[in-house]
Amino acid sequence: MGRAFAYVILGGGVAAGYAALEFVRLRSDAAAGELCIISDENVAPYERPALSKGYLLPEGGARLPAFHTCVGANDQLLTADWYREHGIELILGTKVITADVRRKTLLTSSGETISYTTLIVATGARALKLEDFGGSGSDAENVCYLRNIKDADKLVSVMRSCPGGDAVVIGGGYIGMECAAALVANKIKVTIVFPGKHCMERLFTPKIAEFYENYYASKGITFIKRTAVSSLEISSGKVTTAILRDGRRLQADMVVVGIGARANTALFEGQLAMEKGGIKVNGQMRTSDASVYAVGDVAAFPVKLAGGDVRRLEHVDCARRTARHAVAAALGGDGDIDYLPFFYSRVFALSWRFYGDNAGEAVHFGDPDLAASPTPKFGAFWVNAGRVAGAFLEGGSAEEYAAIADAVRRGAAVKDVAELARQGLAFVAPRDGRSGAARSRSGGLCGRCGGGGGDRPTYAWHATVGVAAAVSIAAFAYWYGWKAPYVAKRDS
Ligand SMILES: Cc1cc2nc3c(=O)[nH]c(=O)nc-3n(C[C@H](O)[C@H](O)[C@H](O)COP(=O)(O)OP(=O)(O)OC[C@H]3O[C@@H](n4cnc5c(N)ncnc54)[C@H](O)[C@@H]3O)c2cc1C
Repeated sequence: MGRAFAYVILGGGVAAGYAALEFVRLRSDAAAGELCIISDENVAPYERPALSKGYLLPEGGARLPAFHTCVGANDQLLTADWYREHGIELILGTKVITADVRRKTLLTSSGETISYTTLIVATGARALKLEDFGGSGSDAENVCYLRNIKDADKLVSVMRSCPGGDAVVIGGGYIGMECAAALVANKIKVTIVFPGKHCMERLFTPKIAEFYENYYASKGITFIKRTAVSSLEISSGKVTTAILRDGRRLQADMVVVGIGARANTALFEGQLAMEKGGIKVNGQMRTSDASVYAVGDVAAFPVKLAGGDVRRLEHVDCARRTARHAVAAALGGDGDIDYLPFFYSRVFALSWRFYGDNAGEAVHFGDPDLAASPTPKFGAFWVNAGRVAGAFLEGGSAEEYAAIADAVRRGAAVKDVAELARQGLAFVAPRDGRSGAARSRSGGLCGRCGGGGGDRPTYAWHATVGVAAAVSIAAFAYWYGWKAPYVAKRDS
């Protein structure tokens, strides 16, 4: 049994949805046998970031079909009907279990062989489990992960089963931070445990992290840093206590694990070139096999802005843009992708964006003082070899975010970091059509004044929390420092 398609998109997540829309835009509707998407999820592609935000709201949470791709980019809502109407075959609930790149075939869990002329690999990443670090306990009824709708449904159901209870969140990265905020909204008491010095350690400076940790503390969240959960006590199938490496015991009505992700590359190991834990592609998102492209979380691609350094970025904007670029390339386009890395976050009443690379010296500006303002405006530039390489801004307006992105994109020259710190946003924020850098040192918008409270996203489920730098397993293992043996103790 088998079918053949000219184009196959393997994976049905964010990148798949954006790839399908781009295909239709560039090529119009697909003809019979032209394009299919194969996904082991049971629903059409959706905006995954919604799962840790609107999906977890205590009331009126976002539910499909409202957040199918491509609403996250304020574009069309692609329901299953949309794919049908445009001639695209959605093969859902179907896992591809082997891929043969030489023969250009995929074997599915239902025993079907699907052959392709061109393959776009969009298999994303999977959440790392306690077991990946030698631990256990993931199968406990009240231990939650968050990668797909099934996980999100479990998280919602566990949260609802213990109102007013205690949650232990393992991990201080973006999943841990987002889930902690959602748990508080659901009136659950939260303790976040991680071995690093501060939250979001791969992106935030200590000063930036201090602000967010203080803010979380003001919401009743406790941070336990520089240690790890070493074991879980399980009774009647549920975790009751998390035991820390330093011997402390935390009562737990539920546990949320956010300890990083690993790209889903297994189908192509030994067949395609790999790098940075993902499938290596060129500037056209083409892999070492000319018939195969890779996009989104699974792809490691050259970032021109970083001198062509190959990066794998687990962020939604990257998934959208690499998907569109790969489709354009597969349909005959010839430009190389020129991507400006972009991460964002919204949590509680806060909102930040980061552009570029956090390489070089961090130069802070503004005053992240909660006492002075519950929603302060502050940020940092990263200066590398005399140029702005990265920029972070909390509480900016759309214009200010655009201005910092522009400064990173053009690598604005910095002669004097002390002056940059003094000017803050004035260094880049346009007031009269020119950047602060171009206006000479004439002062201007300071880090604490001007601007509004940030542009509000169209969809509420994008509006809560955020994102950190991509976490490769190697980097994560180092970051998490999880070297202690990890065991789950069960009394039943
Ligand atoms: C809870 C959560 C919140 C997030 N929030 C943000 C955010 O606020 N901002 C941000 O920038 N990024 C965020 N991200 C990251 C962002 O969602 C990812 O970068 C994005 O989803 C990557 O898209 P993708 O298509 O590459 O992978 P995915 O969206 O993960 O899709 C991969 C798809 O492939 C399928 N698949 C995998 N293997 C197979 C197989 N063998 N056979 C069939 N199907 C297969 C999967 O089931 C899935 O459908 C978040 C991620 C999560 C999990």
